[in-house]
Amino acid sequence: VIEAGQPTHSAITTCAYCGVGCSFKAEMQGETVVRMTPWKGGAANHGHSCVKGRFAFGYATHPDRLRQPMIRDSIDQPWRPVGWEEAISFAASRLRAIQDEYGRDSIGGITSSRCTNEETYLVQKLVRAGFGNNNTDTCARVCHSPTGYGLKTTLGESAGTQTFDSVMAADVIVVIGANPTDAHPVFGSQLRRRLREGAELIVIDPRRIDLLATPHRGGAQHLALQPGTNVAMVNALAHVVVTEGLEDTDFIARRCDASAYGAWRDFISQQRNSPEATEAITGVPADLVRQAARTYARAGNGAIYYGLGVTEHSQGSTMVMGIANLAMATGNIGREGVGVNPLRGQNNVQGSCDMGSFPHELPGYQHVSDAQVRARFEAAWGVQLDDEPGLRIPNMFDAALAGQFKALYVQGEDIAQSDPNTQHVEAALRSLDCLIVQDIFLNETAKYAHVLLPGSSFLEKDGTFTNAERRINRVRKVMTPLAGKQDWEVTVDLANALGYPMHYRHPSEIMDEIASLTPSFTGVSYDKLERLGSIQWPCNDAHPDGTPIMHEQDFPIGQGRFAVTEFIPTDERATRRFPLLLTTGRILSQYNVGAQTRRTHNQQWHDEDILELHPEDAELRGVRDGDWLGITSRAGQTVLRARISDRIPVGVVYTTFHHPGSGANVITTDSSDWATNCPEYKVTAVQVEKVSQP
Ligand code: SF4
Repeated sequence: VIEAGQPTHSAITTCAYCGVGCSFKAEMQGETVVRMTPWKGGAANHGHSCVKGRFAFGYATHPDRLRQPMIRDSIDQPWRPVGWEEAISFAASRLRAIQDEYGRDSIGGITSSRCTNEETYLVQKLVRAGFGNNNTDTCARVCHSPTGYGLKTTLGESAGTQTFDSVMAADVIVVIGANPTDAHPVFGSQLRRRLREGAELIVIDPRRIDLLATPHRGGAQHLALQPGTNVAMVNALAHVVVTEGLEDTDFIARRCDASAYGAWRDFISQQRNSPEATEAITGVPADLVRQAARTYARAGNGAIYYGLGVTEHSQGSTMVMGIANLAMATGNIGREGVGVNPLRGQNNVQGSCDMGSFPHELPGYQHVSDAQVRARFEAAWGVQLDDEPGLRIPNMFDAALAGQFKALYVQGEDIAQSDPNTQHVEAALRSLDCLIVQDIFLNETAKYAHVLLPGSSFLEKDGTFTNAERRINRVRKVMTPLAGKQDWEVTVDLANALGYPMHYRHPSEIMDEIASLTPSFTGVSYDKLERLGSIQWPCNDAHPDGTPIMHEQDFPIGQGRFAVTEFIPTDERATRRFPLLLTTGRILSQYNVGAQTRRTHNQQWHDEDILELHPEDAELRGVRDGDWLGITSRAGQTVLRARISDRIPVGVVYTTFHHPGSGANVITTDSSDWATNCPEYKVTAVQVEKVSQP
């Protein structure tokens, strides 16, 4: 229950949770939040909100918040509280000493999808210009990096194609590997509205998600495939489209590269890709697959929405390309009601990718090997840039364990909890000579840190977030930063202490610099954001007020490129030793690793992670609801309570990952996407046994 006082001031800002990017009026009484009121003028939410954005803001002033920098010489020593100047100077001298001893490439930095565009831009700039290498990566590595790769390869741009509102013109809605009513609730409600109006629904997911229970006029089809078989499924759908003459031949002829299309068509037509041939792989009856393919291909407007159930696989990038193939083959690109739409998990996943956080790309997805691109950045930043891609996050861990990577600056990410195979991550962090953690809480990663720099919550800073529909929204400061500095100011101080000068008076100046160097942002400014409320990039001379629907006339690469998507089974298969497949997801009231929501009233609705298992699997093991279960994979072991549920198929178990105690990532493995190293969180072969209470 929130005590409503009389607000002294307010500002329109953006939710710091999921990629829907809802706008709120933050109403304050001095330094206390009175309420968060969903803002009707918000283009992503139109006055709607969910239980996270509206009520789960208490973490911002929680007693656990870090309020003072701390340092220590080694991780077995106690923390020593110090002032900002001493902490920054300590961090800078350690980084310099390490580079002097081990070389330029021995250090790196990780940006966060929880931080603003301006903050992530500065961290990657610090790494490239201040550290002198490309060892910068982002937590998007472990969620939507396959989206970046797959959509850029096929459609030419690493972003979703539509506005959220576009779904109201969709006749058929395909949801793949996503649970929007829990993970993207405001958009989930919009989907429900469209289904009630008569759109048809196709869900491709091992688990029966709540959307399927929405009373609606159109039909609903559920393809409950086995985890790890997405690519076989999308190939089977495309096979039906091609072999039953359901292609949009006019769109393909006008908009797509003929040679790539020919190669793909030859591949996809092969009988081994048919629903009948893949039935034994996916576990979905062929007639259901044929029905779904016909429904989507014959729709006036067919829209695809997908989530981490697509990307977090060893073939995540292949699956993203498979989805783009399907949309191009049926002409479902380039207008209202259609498209390929990744549902981004965190508030600024899109933005952190756009801002050049990846080790191979400068802001705007411009490759570091492009000499002309580098020349522009070198002129603006006054340094010579490395032309070789740097280390990805898992490569940083491996290099640390090999003794070649010695220091890491992590802003706003709890890698010890969120990355797979916790034991491996912790060993790598423990081996570092200097770990600098900048966060609002003393998180799991901070246990291995030498420098702790207090972060600022979204209420304490100015900046922008970019949501899943490429919409740049303003974040506005309504509180004094609890530790005295906004996150971007800390990075600026660190850069200056390292001898690389950064001088900004306000994040608007950082955005001006971003716009001057990023072709898809050249028309973006804080003044324009003030005037328009929000902007969907690309925003440039061709699209001065932004671009709601992408690829209307052509693709950034000219013509759409079909990609051959060969299905390769994952190594994570059910065996006698590990007979069940574990998959993971989120729940409405909690958010990701729970660092924020567990420190709010939302904790009362979901205070532990639970393992769902099918009644047949439970009976086989003599398990009843509420029993404690030991879950073992080839990576590790954890204990969770049982919930018996027929929402998942026989042979599959499911859990959420919101509580550090349950340690879902203790059991996830090192398997990852072949193109991007995105971890295969969604498929882990496990054994499940009844145990006594831990
Ligand atoms: Fe925040 Fe997402 Fe909920 Fe909107 S739907 S209020 S952005 S968590």
